[in-house]
Amino acid sequence: MRFWSRSVSNGMNFHIVTIFPEVCRVYTDTGILGRAQKTNKGKGAKVRGRKMTVNYYDPRDFAIGKHKKVDDKPYGGGPGMVMSAEPILKAWKKAVGRKDQKKVKTLIMSPRGKQFDQKMAKNLSKRYEHIVLISGRYEGIDTRVKKALRAEEVSVGDYVLSGGELPALTVVDAVAREIPGVLGEQDSLEDRRVTSGEVYTRPEVITYKKKQYKVPKVLLQGNHKEIEKYRSKK
Ligand code: SAH
Repeated sequence: MRFWSRSVSNGMNFHIVTIFPEVCRVYTDTGILGRAQKTNKGKGAKVRGRKMTVNYYDPRDFAIGKHKKVDDKPYGGGPGMVMSAEPILKAWKKAVGRKDQKKVKTLIMSPRGKQFDQKMAKNLSKRYEHIVLISGRYEGIDTRVKKALRAEEVSVGDYVLSGGELPALTVVDAVAREIPGVLGEQDSLEDRRVTSGEVYTRPEVITYKKKQYKVPKVLLQGNHKEIEKYRSKK
């Protein structure tokens, strides 16, 4: 039993399965996501402790044989290679095999999956403590991974990318922003402003190809009622 005087979140643990962990890590170590992985002991902190972790698992580390092969030819023929199931299943087991499965969600990045959106991000952030994101490459992942892990296929949009890394990072980023305390006061403010449309910063006038572009007068005059009105109209 643990006692805390203030709200302490259990935090969210992301587990990304990818053969390119180093590509992803640069992104998750940067900015808001980077900050959310540091422990926050600050007195003013509304939610103390680490808000999230991002862990990486390279299927290659779980592959057998001298060549550490993570792909093979497709059964039934056809072009390209398929990512083998076993290294991915082993990576998954290492990540969350011993966790309370009610708190674990496994997502496979796939252009044929369910379209990811803000609502899904919100639900994931509320319901789970561990989210495993499996990134494919080549022609995709052996279908038995989905079956064995009862995973859900998720797409980030109606287009095909070369790999599941950007989709996995997209999901991590959007879910992270829904975790209490990940966005600071300032970020939340920025967030709201962005949804209200246009933004400007100095200088007041810029000249581009001999044409002048000005900041709308109402934003310069400091009348907050008028500014709110202008923004909600936009
Ligand atoms: N012919 C394959 C395409 C594989 S693209 C197929 O129909 O599935 C290679 C990998 O990139 C996929 O395994 C998936 O993990 C990822 N990917 C590509 N586009 C994606 C998208 N829109 N959303 C999520 N993942 C995607």
